[in-house]
Amino acid sequence: MPVSILCYHSVTNGWDDPVSVETADFERQCAVLARSTTVVPLRGVIDRLAAGYSVPAGTTVLTFDDGFADYVEHAVPIMERYGLTATMYVVAGSLEPGGIAVDWIRGLDPADAPPLMTPEQIRELHDRGWEIGSHTMRHADMPTLSEAECLADFKESKELLEDLLEAPVTSLAYPFGHHAPHVRRAAELAGYRIALALPEGPEEAGPYSVPRTGIYRGNPEWKFRVKNSRWYAHVRTSSLYQKVAGRRT
Ligand SMILES: [Zn+2]
Repeated sequence: MPVSILCYHSVTNGWDDPVSVETADFERQCAVLARSTTVVPLRGVIDRLAAGYSVPAGTTVLTFDDGFADYVEHAVPIMERYGLTATMYVVAGSLEPGGIAVDWIRGLDPADAPPLMTPEQIRELHDRGWEIGSHTMRHADMPTLSEAECLADFKESKELLEDLLEAPVTSLAYPFGHHAPHVRRAAELAGYRIALALPEGPEEAGPYSVPRTGIYRGNPEWKFRVKNSRWYAHVRTSSLYQKVAGRRT
């Protein structure tokens, strides 16, 4: 697939964690994207592929995982200035009364976690044309669950989000990008058209294991340019990458 799918988490200032990109860095990255690629909504890519068309080279899709509220405060206004769009993957358990503890960021006490978006904010984004997808119910490491448990989670998160948005939710992002054959089967059975991964090594790509490239804090611009080139996801999933990478960045 000649499309580069980038994966962000938080865009804010002063959260010193790999998942959080500073607003000034994000702004520079958006400027590079607006200049050098065509950023399209994920749904557009899915529809083109389903209709038998290929996706033009130089196409980029932006995605965000976890549903942090800084998306509304920082990322969306910056993307709007550059005419870009993105899909946000929400942890659907956060929609339930009482919300959910952000217990999936390594080294972070959930009590210190930045807030997640409220259901009202998610609904409002959707109404303004910003795509929303499922990031499961509780951000579990799905390969550790049974196929039946995965299926129940994928269905429940889809239904909760569809009830909130009053629209179909057709894409899923696996927590931590982790998946396995039984997880992919469950994603398909639950009715998603596509499921996104985040490969750290060799991994076969398919509609239920679509590779993304994670963009992390402090990635200097040269590295960002490399990461956004369309062969990067392929290189990362090749065995060659394992040999040359040495260690994960
Ligand atoms: Zn996540």
